[in-house]
Parts: sequence; C-alpha cells; structure tokens
Amino acid sequence: MKWTILGSGGCMVIPKPLCRCPVCREARDKGIPYARAGPSAFLHDLNLLIDTPAEIVSMLNRSRIRRVDYLTFTHLDPDHTEGFRVVEQIALDFRTWRAYPEKQICLLLPEQLAEPLREIRSQYGPLLDFYQESGFVRLHLFRDRIEVGGMGITAIPVDRGRQTSFVYVFEKSGRKVVYAPCDIKPFPEHLKEVQQADLLIIQPGIFEKGLKHGFRYPPEHVSRTTLYTYEQTLELAARIQAKKVLFVHLEEYWNRSHDDYRALESKNKAIRFAYDGMQVTV
Ligand SMILES: [Zn+2]
Ligand SMILES: [Zn+2]
Repeated sequence: MKWTILGSGGCMVIPKPLCRCPVCREARDKGIPYARAGPSAFLHDLNLLIDTPAEIVSMLNRSRIRRVDYLTFTHLDPDHTEGFRVVEQIALDFRTWRAYPEKQICLLLPEQLAEPLREIRSQYGPLLDFYQESGFVRLHLFRDRIEVGGMGITAIPVDRGRQTSFVYVFEKSGRKVVYAPCDIKPFPEHLKEVQQADLLIIQPGIFEKGLKHGFRYPPEHVSRTTLYTYEQTLELAARIQAKKVLFVHLEEYWNRSHDDYRALESKNKAIRFAYDGMQVTV
C-alpha cells in the first residue's frame, strides 16, 4: 500500500492565520515540513482521498496526484469536510455545468454518515444532493466492510455522542493499515480488526507540558473526554501491537515544531510524526 499524508495538521493549521507564536513564525518562514495543512490522506492503490479540509485544493495541486476515483470521510467535523467542494472543482465541465463523466468521484460512505452529511448545506440545499445531481459524485453506501479493487476496507464506528466517527482498516495482500486521525476515543481496541497492524496512523493526543501560553490541562478539561494523552496513545498502540505508528493531526497549540517531533522520534524507533506530503509504503 502506498500512502501520501496530504495534510498533517489538526483542527488548527500551522501557521494559524495571523498568529505570531514561534511555531507559526517558523512555519511561515520555512514552509513544509514546518507548515501543516488540515488532516487528509491519499491511498494511491485506490486513488482514494480521505477527508477534505479547507486547504484540500492546494494540497492536491502541490502533490503529484493525477486522479481521484474515491472519496471518504472519517467523520463530519469541519476540519475534515470544509473542502468537500473539491469534487466540483475537480469534476465540473463549464460547458454543461455538470460533471465530466470520467471525472466523477465515487463517494464511499458508511451508511451511518449519509443523513448527517445531508446536514452540510449551501443555498442549493444539501451539498451531497447537489453534487450527486450535478454528477460530481456518485454515492456508494456500505455497512461495516467493503471490498474495492482487491482492498478490504472495514469501517468501525466510534460513538462520540452527538456524532459518529470512523476508524478505517485497510487490508491488502496480508498488509494492514489502521487509519484513525481524529475523534477516536473510546478507541475500539478490543476488535481484532485494529490489532497487529503493520501501520497505525493516529493522532498523538494531548501533550501535558510545553503547550502554548504555558497551559496545563486541568483534570476535568473537556479535551480529556475527547482525546487520549500522548502517553496513553503510546500505551494503546503497544496494547494493539501496532508494528509502526505514524502520528497525524498535529495541533498548533501543542506548540511543537517539526524539530521537536524529530527529537521524539529519535527516542522510539517504532514511531514517526507525519509532515505534509510525506509518502509511506506499507
Ligand atoms: Zn501559532
Ligand atoms: Zn479533526
């Protein structure tokens, strides 16, 4: 399996607009790998795009990707869906105001996300309906597991109360990648599908120290209900026997530069921190 991490940032990109903190200033000066756009990945085996942050058009343009055949969402928070209109940017034929047929994208979606996705609207109504009517996407709903082009894709729901997010397990030719970038607590670690992955792509969770403004999370902070700590995430990865771990969704307020993450990598051979455009073969 060949992957590109299109965007390694989290719900706050780096540099955060107008922010003058040292991490953002360095990112503004040096660009990638210090700068990070929102969370998105591309699986080349299927030409599958996972999540569309606001910056997705420029992320695709700076990559070498030539085709998007499939699109899916891990969940529907704005940092993963704001750029959904990329399907129109890719597929629109201005002569008819409809899609070039060969550029239509198959939206592979766990059926639990179909109705919630219709709540994302423009003045034309639900984006999903408009994009389907225009031919930019065709919707392919599935439940639990689907096989596409020799790749098994398992969608495991994580109950987040008001919304559901999904952990995806990709399996092909005896290799397994678990993709879990955001909103993954409580992680479904009891399921064999997520265990013994060749690669676990996951958010690192809360760092307790060194945060922006010297902030320390109090015991009852809301983020503790939605995020593991970095140490808990390392323990989780060990419990599910992930062979390698790639951290994504790296937040601006963690106040860490690319060099700080490189220093953490040097202490643990099994982990890496992603950067924008990083390519990984499993
Ligand atoms: Zn900043
Ligand atoms: Zn997110």
